Amino acid sequence: MTEERYILVYGAGISGCGVAKTLAARGEKVVLFNDTVKTIEEGLVQILEKAGGTYSCQTSFEEWLPRTKLVIVSPGITFENPLTEAARARGIEVIGEVEEASRLYSGHWIGITGTNGKTTTTTLVGEMLRSLPCQVRVGGNIGAALSSEAQGLSNQDWLVAELSSFQLEGVTSFRPDIALILNITPDHMERHHTMEKYTAAKANIFAHQKAEDILILNYDNKLTKSLASQAHSQICFISRKEILSQGIFLENGKFVIKWNGIRQEVCSVSDMQIFGTHNEENALGAIACAFFAGVDIKVMQQVLRSFQGVEHRLEYVTTIHGVPYYNDSKATNPDSTIKALESFPGHVVLLAGGHDKLTDLTEMMELIRIKTDALILLGAAQQRFYQAALKAQIQNIYLVTTFQEAVEKAYELAHEPQVVVLSPACSSYDMFDNFPQRGRVFKELVRKLPQ
Ligand code: ADP
Repeated sequence: MTEERYILVYGAGISGCGVAKTLAARGEKVVLFNDTVKTIEEGLVQILEKAGGTYSCQTSFEEWLPRTKLVIVSPGITFENPLTEAARARGIEVIGEVEEASRLYSGHWIGITGTNGKTTTTTLVGEMLRSLPCQVRVGGNIGAALSSEAQGLSNQDWLVAELSSFQLEGVTSFRPDIALILNITPDHMERHHTMEKYTAAKANIFAHQKAEDILILNYDNKLTKSLASQAHSQICFISRKEILSQGIFLENGKFVIKWNGIRQEVCSVSDMQIFGTHNEENALGAIACAFFAGVDIKVMQQVLRSFQGVEHRLEYVTTIHGVPYYNDSKATNPDSTIKALESFPGHVVLLAGGHDKLTDLTEMMELIRIKTDALILLGAAQQRFYQAALKAQIQNIYLVTTFQEAVEKAYELAHEPQVVVLSPACSSYDMFDNFPQRGRVFKELVRKLPQ
């Protein structure tokens, strides 16, 4: 009698549930395993059981491993853990959900990664590609499981994937037609520990590309630029700062495509509604992806002109007594907060702190000293941020304990021509479920302030 062979999906989050459902629908016996009790989407347990699998919460994984043929790890779980080690010791293959999605869908892929700007750029690319005469889906780190999004696509269609370093840790053969690395700056040291390991995870996006594939790299980011020497694919650089002999770049405030000797202008930076030099970088990345996917220049123009940005990314909330308030809750690392500060001429009242990712704060604190009039600190990272701020000789530091206090302090301090910006340089897990919740709470508190 042949033994039953299971696919063990570790982690019942968005991608774990998505891949479990997709595989069960294809007749695979899937054990969806979560090591804490978690309620999952109604009906999913039945779908798993119908195909001969199950949902297992808090039981030992050991009982499943002897009958497991493949382990798929969710991006929220570190790749080295007792379950994956036990699986590898038994010779069982361990992959991530993106790898599984790429095995399920062999059509066109665009993979977008970077420390910051992924969601903004992926959204822009998705909008631009919608003009193509085929189906276009967007998924990955942006909030939809790629294995689910891949369902029903044909080989002429496009799957646009936002990919985090966690997701890229788990790929072994994923090969996007077009890959983009926007930037690499310190982040997630609590998981990757060194910049080398973090960069290596990001570099997995192009590790399996071939000569006919395209790798788009940011010429202005040292680490990203240096990856060109490791690639087997065709390199296209993007640059805000340099006029390139070939590539996608800014020239006299205009987005220019120069490829195979042909020069085309897309539009001006001033045509866009989103602001800040980081968004110029995102626009360059999006134009490059769209260009290689065959999108018309006119469509790129329309999208860049009408795009209003994504919620929680330097999002304008309101103006009170001449002071504008911005919600940048998605700024979960120092570089994103640096970019927020660079987007304003100065006089910022900055709200920062949250769950500490243990990233180096030196550069950010230097800029905070120059750009801010007041720094309001809160959250689990408060003391480390405070010490770093003192070291950088920052004046006007206020330590608060609740979010409400932080907003009220900002209101009390800020006067025209100052701006109030929530840009925490930390994730939100110390006080909130996630960054959207933090952003919504901030907006609600701000809107309740006396006008
Ligand atoms: P990601 O998906 O990579 O987190 P987002 O587009 O959601 O990127 O933006 C996250 C944060 O980073 C926001 O605070 C945003 O203002 C900032 N940001 C966006 N694009 C860039 C960029 N190219 N470089 C640095 N920071 C950026």
